[in-house]
Amino acid sequence: MRLLYCLECHDVVKLKLLDKEWCECGCSYGYFDATGVTIYSAEALVLEISNTILDTCLKGTLRRPGPAGAPGYSTSVHVLPINSSKGRRLGQ
Ligand SMILES: [Zn+2]
Repeated sequence: MRLLYCLECHDVVKLKLLDKEWCECGCSYGYFDATGVTIYSAEALVLEISNTILDTCLKGTLRRPGPAGAPGYSTSVHVLPINSSKGRRLGQ
């Protein structure tokens, strides 16, 4: 899953195929093009979370919530490098 992170308002929105998604302040937008590359505005960065690992965390929490105060399941976020093979930041 890829998420748009606005550097201005710190909003995070889920990106969609060929459909521009905007942050709350309207400074940033992004979408997937037909090849799956993320196109996004210069005021943003793209966050990537493994769907498989996130699914494991979600299902694990539902199956075994653990005792009160337990740390819970976690996963990491990868920040896409600017203008990588997975994403193109406009205005750069
Ligand atoms: Zn914003």
